Amino acid sequence: AKDSGKNNFKSYCPEMEQGLRFRRELEVELRHALTRGELELAFQPLLHLSSGQISGCEALIRWKHPVRGYIPPSEFIPVAEETGLIGTIGEWVLKTACKAAVSWPPHIKVAVNLSPIQFRTRDIVSEVRAAIAESEIAADRIELEITESALIDDSKLTEVALFELRSLGVSIVLDDFGTGYSSLNYLRKYPFQKIKIDRSFVGEIETSQDCLTIVEITLLLAKRLDLLITAEGVETVEQLNLLKALGCTQAQGYLISRPLSAACILDFVRTQSGN
Ligand code: C2E
Ligand code: CA
Ligand code: CA
Ligand code: CA
Repeated sequence: AKDSGKNNFKSYCPEMEQGLRFRRELEVELRHALTRGELELAFQPLLHLSSGQISGCEALIRWKHPVRGYIPPSEFIPVAEETGLIGTIGEWVLKTACKAAVSWPPHIKVAVNLSPIQFRTRDIVSEVRAAIAESEIAADRIELEITESALIDDSKLTEVALFELRSLGVSIVLDDFGTGYSSLNYLRKYPFQKIKIDRSFVGEIETSQDCLTIVEITLLLAKRLDLLITAEGVETVEQLNLLKALGCTQAQGYLISRPLSAACILDFVRTQSGN
């Protein structure tokens, strides 16, 4: 009976079957992607609004697949997380991002995304310490971006790790603010220096009164809690001016620059700094 059930599933859901096969193939290929050098980092600049200077760049992973072409992180990061491969990949991202950043002007920070899985399955503090030692980057140039989902299980382990990371001198950033759960308690409990407003809010600040209100209140909250704030996904001059007028610290988005290759970002930050 079980077998025929399986057959029915196969014949009635060819799309799902195909989806699963694709995912399994992706998993196998992802295992090799690192060793074959198919993973790359792109860097997207962050504009400091009151000075008009580039003050940081976020590392964003890219997979250049030899056959399928470019695969976005939204497709393979979940697979990497489910299979545990995110541990090795995340460590590579950390080291590679720090190595790239040492050749930028020293006032420019580097932001690295951490998966919640890295806190649960790896010694993330040792990995960050090793990345700092190997690259010889100043710890205060590193920003670690974590989403609320890293904090959702309220684990003591994650809490301790975050405070240890902070004591190394790196900054802790709450990413995708407002899209998860109970963010306000997290702000009280963990050692954040900065929050990032998700681009789903930023994209509608001119068209939705509700989005504008949410952004305004978030900015006020950040200010009162002595937190810096970055707005993600800024695509228009109007959005930029509005955010600036509201006292937002930094802006990131296609208006300022798309994510660039390591070589291009080096040119970009050097030109910006007049070197
Ligand atoms: P995120 O951390 O929220 O990163 C911002 C995403 O918004 C990036 O997508 C960026 O390319 C995109 N973006 C930036 N400016 C604009 C804009 O003006 N308009 C629009 N429409 N999009 C903009 P990307 O590079 O595809 O990355 C997607 C997500 O994948 C990231 O979201 C992050 O959660 C995850 N990710 C990327 N790299 C890594 C990594 O190294 N490790 C981990 N764990 N996750 C990563
Ligand atoms: Ca991020
Ligand atoms: Ca994110
Ligand atoms: Ca986001």
